[in-house]
Amino acid sequence: MNVVTLPTQMLWAGHVPDLCVRHGAPASVRMSFYRGAVQNWPYCPECVKSRKANLALAVAVLALPFLVTFVGVGVLHNDAVALATFTDVIWVFLGAGIIVFWYLLLRYVTPSGLAKAKLTGNNMWLVMQGTHPAFMAHANDLVQRTGAAQVSPTGQLVQPDVFAPQPGQAPGAPPAQPQPPAQ
Ligand SMILES: [Zn+2]
Repeated sequence: MNVVTLPTQMLWAGHVPDLCVRHGAPASVRMSFYRGAVQNWPYCPECVKSRKANLALAVAVLALPFLVTFVGVGVLHNDAVALATFTDVIWVFLGAGIIVFWYLLLRYVTPSGLAKAKLTGNNMWLVMQGTHPAFMAHANDLVQRTGAAQVSPTGQLVQPDVFAPQPGQAPGAPPAQPQPPAQ
């Protein structure tokens, strides 16, 4: 499922990814969501394009049943039986239009929906499901480079220890020097 979990502490410290979640492409636009809890989130040109297209689609899906209602009532207003049948049916389309409108809006138009992102654990984590492999690699690399807090197996927040010695290096030891060849 390509799930990426980022600690919000890391994002608040300014360590935000540079690739978009859906396409793994470099950002052209930055947006905030969750009332500013997540800021400067990256979106590529393809994200921006699909956002506009889905917004237009959502508005069309909402407007079409209203347009059909308007035209239908106009055409059938002299035929009581046909009008009664029409008004019975049109409610279903109006309801479906509203549901699909909100679905498209929340899933593909809002910045959080576009980023497939959800805040969880009392706003401690930003979780994204079904991310692009390039974004996933980029996000994991960002977490490692910034020494950000990690999730422990018990779900506790583990504080970063950026001063911990790297594997293979003794604490306090200077970097290994190249040795002169033996005589
Ligand atoms: Zn994108």
